[in-house]
Amino acid sequence: MKRRPLFVGNWKMHTTVLDACHLAADIAKTCGGLQDRDVLVAPPFTALNQVAHIVAETGILVGAQNVCWEAQGAFTGEISPLMVLDAGGAAVIVGHSERRRIFYEDNVLINKRLRGALAFGLIPILCVGETLAERESGQTFTVVEEQVREGLAGVEAADMADTILAYEPVWAIGTGQTATKEQAQDVHAFIRSLIAEIYEKDIADKVRILYGGSVKPDNIDALMVQKDIDGALVGGAALNAESFGRIIHFQGI
Ligand code: PEP
Repeated sequence: MKRRPLFVGNWKMHTTVLDACHLAADIAKTCGGLQDRDVLVAPPFTALNQVAHIVAETGILVGAQNVCWEAQGAFTGEISPLMVLDAGGAAVIVGHSERRRIFYEDNVLINKRLRGALAFGLIPILCVGETLAERESGQTFTVVEEQVREGLAGVEAADMADTILAYEPVWAIGTGQTATKEQAQDVHAFIRSLIAEIYEKDIADKVRILYGGSVKPDNIDALMVQKDIDGALVGGAALNAESFGRIIHFQGI
C-alpha cells in the first residue's frame, strides 16, 4: 500500500527567531506547494508563530517539539496544546530520545503528552527506538514494542488516522551512523505488525512510520525504497534548506 511520504525537520534547540525565519523562507522556496508529499518543520517554541506565518499558504506544516496535556494552568516550563495551535502549529513530536534520555521522560509521561495532543487536535509524532546497548544485547524489538504499546495506551483506533510513528535508533541520532536500510526496514515492519495486532491491519497499512537517525541527502534514496519507510524525521540535515530540500525531493518515488 502506498502511503504519502512525510518529511519532518526537527530543529531542536537551534535558531534564533531571525535564523528560523530565514530557514523557513528558504525551505518554503524549494519545498512549498508539493502535491505528492508532506513537509513539516518543528522549530523551537519561540519561533513557532513566525515560522507558521512564513510557511502559511505553502502547504508546509509546523509542529512543536513537545507538549503538555493540559489546556492551561500551573505547569511551569510547559506549553499547552492550545498554545501550539494558537501559534499556528498542527503537530507535535513526543517521546524524542533526547526527552527520554536527558529529561527522563518515560512511556507513561509520553503517553499523556500524546493523548493530550490528540485531545486538542494536534497530530502526534511518537518517537521510539533502542539504545546501542539495547541493540547489542538483542533487545531492540522488546524495547520498541514496549515504547509503542505504552506510548499508544488508551489511544482509540479512530485516532490512529492522525497519529504518526517515528523509529529513531538512539545510536543513530546525531552520530552520522545511520541504520542500514535493512535494519530500519526490519524494525519498521515490526512496528507495522504491532499496530495490526493492537488495532487492525487496515490501520497498520495506513499509519505512516518515519525513519530518523542521521538521515542525509546521500542515504535518503535507499531508505525510501524500503516498503515500510514512509518518510524521515531529520535533525542536523534539516537545519540547512538545501540538504533538507534534497531529502524531501528524494529519488525514486
Ligand atoms: C532527530 O532529531 O530526531 C534526528 C534524527 O537527528 P539527526 O538527523 O541529526 O540524527
